Amino acid sequence: RVARQLAEDTSAGATADGHPVNLLANIGTAEDADRLAVGSVEGVGLFRTEVLFLGRATAPTREEQAAVYTRVLTSLGGRKLVVRTLDAGADKPLAFATQPDEENPALGIRGYRLVRTAPELLETQLGALADAQEATGVEPWVMAPMIATVGEARDFAAAARRHGIRTVGVMVEVPAAALRAEAILAEVDFVSMGTNDLAQYVMATDRLCGELSDLISLWQPAVLDLVAATAAAGERTGKPAGVCGESASDPVMAVVLTGLGVTSLSMAPAAVPTVRYAIAQHTREQAQAVARAALGADTADAARAAAVAALRPEV
Ligand code: PEP
Ligand code: MG
Repeated sequence: RVARQLAEDTSAGATADGHPVNLLANIGTAEDADRLAVGSVEGVGLFRTEVLFLGRATAPTREEQAAVYTRVLTSLGGRKLVVRTLDAGADKPLAFATQPDEENPALGIRGYRLVRTAPELLETQLGALADAQEATGVEPWVMAPMIATVGEARDFAAAARRHGIRTVGVMVEVPAAALRAEAILAEVDFVSMGTNDLAQYVMATDRLCGELSDLISLWQPAVLDLVAATAAAGERTGKPAGVCGESASDPVMAVVLTGLGVTSLSMAPAAVPTVRYAIAQHTREQAQAVARAALGADTADAARAAAVAALRPEV
């Protein structure tokens, strides 16, 4: 009953004192977009477009991609859509794009780095996004994965803007990008933290290795520090800094992220109701206290325990 009550609350994400935190969904297909009940989420914070490319012998054409992006924009009816350009490589290999013989695929040519070996993939995709924008009159936000340097952010932004994309961002999921977040934000309009890869690269721990799951915890102090630094860079520059990795779907972490000044949380749609509830129980100041408690701990377990102890009793 409580779950149904929570699910029926379609209000926009906000703290108890009305500070907004956009609650968005992660999707991989146009069907996922169709399934987002009207009003229950404020839009899509991560469209993993590589799903369109997987299991194919060749890349989808500009026309094929434009049809899918048009359908997603239409289905969202003007709600926000953040599209991530192709994130192939490492845990998402692609027959026609990625090197099968890399020694260290997670550290190799993946994500935005594919522009070095197959630049036409990004060009075609940006063209298709521009076509969908033209067809619907709705502007998607477009971001690149696996950005490590300011130069990459600048080059991606220039390419996207050449195609007429107006709101351009990058993911912060490489520690180098988190450390230089303010300089990166000088080049783009927003950042979105991918905490799955950020934790993998900060902790030098394969995200697919279950035996090391304690090391790759999103509560590891070093991971929290880089998330805090990125959120602070967003606040200083006045530009949106969201989270689209798994961290966003944990209601306790969501309060911490709210306290750190994160502007949006994008997650599996099923996680939205409990996250909305947890955030709504705290004023911004109370969320900041929860964040301070987590950041003051020196182990992952202690950080989570400190955050839980600092939550308001209703959560
Ligand atoms: C992430 O790395 O946190 C992320 C959101 O992207 P993906 O899980 O698709 O790599
Ligand atoms: Mg990632």
